[in-house]
Amino acid sequence: MNGLCRALGAGLLALLMGCASTKPDCSAANAVPWQAVVPGVWVWPPDAVGAVSAANAGHVVPTSAVVSGGEALVIDPGPSHRHGLRVRDSLACRFGAQVRWVVNTHAHAENVLANSVFADRLAAGQLEILSSEGTRSAMQQRCPACLASLSDRVGAGAMAGTGIVLPSRVVETGELLRVGPHTLRVLPPAPGHSESDLVLWDEASRVVWAGGLVVDQRLPELAQGGVDAWLLALDRIAALRPRHVIGSTVSSTLDGEALPPAVVVTRSYLAELRTRVLAAMDEGHHAGESDLIEMPAYTGWQDYAQRQGFNVQRAWRELEPVWMERGPAK
Ligand SMILES: [Zn+2]
Repeated sequence: MNGLCRALGAGLLALLMGCASTKPDCSAANAVPWQAVVPGVWVWPPDAVGAVSAANAGHVVPTSAVVSGGEALVIDPGPSHRHGLRVRDSLACRFGAQVRWVVNTHAHAENVLANSVFADRLAAGQLEILSSEGTRSAMQQRCPACLASLSDRVGAGAMAGTGIVLPSRVVETGELLRVGPHTLRVLPPAPGHSESDLVLWDEASRVVWAGGLVVDQRLPELAQGGVDAWLLALDRIAALRPRHVIGSTVSSTLDGEALPPAVVVTRSYLAELRTRVLAAMDEGHHAGESDLIEMPAYTGWQDYAQRQGFNVQRAWRELEPVWMERGPAK
């Protein structure tokens, strides 16, 4: 394509055909430190566990890619056009791969706004952006506000060029996404962390993608979801017996009988939250006193101070009918 464009020497045509933008920047500074999870599955983890800030430019969850035979499927491309450009360029430079599919696991800014960089390939019919129906409609509603909020937190420079690009196709439960030897099965979306958390399962590699449902060292956030649905989603993930989980963290086990540790600790937090909220109701407390529910095992986790009270309030609202149905513990 670049040779053809040069030969035509027509600036306008070159612009229209996107020639300038298709030449990847293969400089060392633009390279992505991809880490292999299993052959063909790569992750770009954040430098450190942390809240969104100007220093990390919103890169707080891993970006991952399944790469084979010159094609790539990117899962949760990241927070900004700039981040997405590095992903796209590095997949071309390092693996000779073009991105053919992007999956948005759920509608949070740090996961999806890098869709922006794929707008040209989407318009040219060279790529699909996939999500659940719930995520697509949530992005439609929330992305303008999320983009503004993320820009406030990381600075306009980091978000330069970022536009809102919605998923082009809704995936169905049971659908298979194939990239070379990898087959990723779409599992039923859960309203756990967000209103619709997509889970993908590569059985042959025993890798599960869990979006925001699996965390470590960072307090789970009951953003738009619920405790019981989240616990159920984690039970479904555990039943797969994965060796590797790629969610808001990347976690692996070498022991065939054990779960990746992040699945276990995320479940432990939510189960304890549920137990403590119901116990506080048993003791006659009410929602206004919910700051009395401290969970010392997690106070060292990122965002505990900001999120614990919110999580308790959300859990309280969800569990109050459960408690009324059950009645006080004897
Ligand atoms: Zn999220």
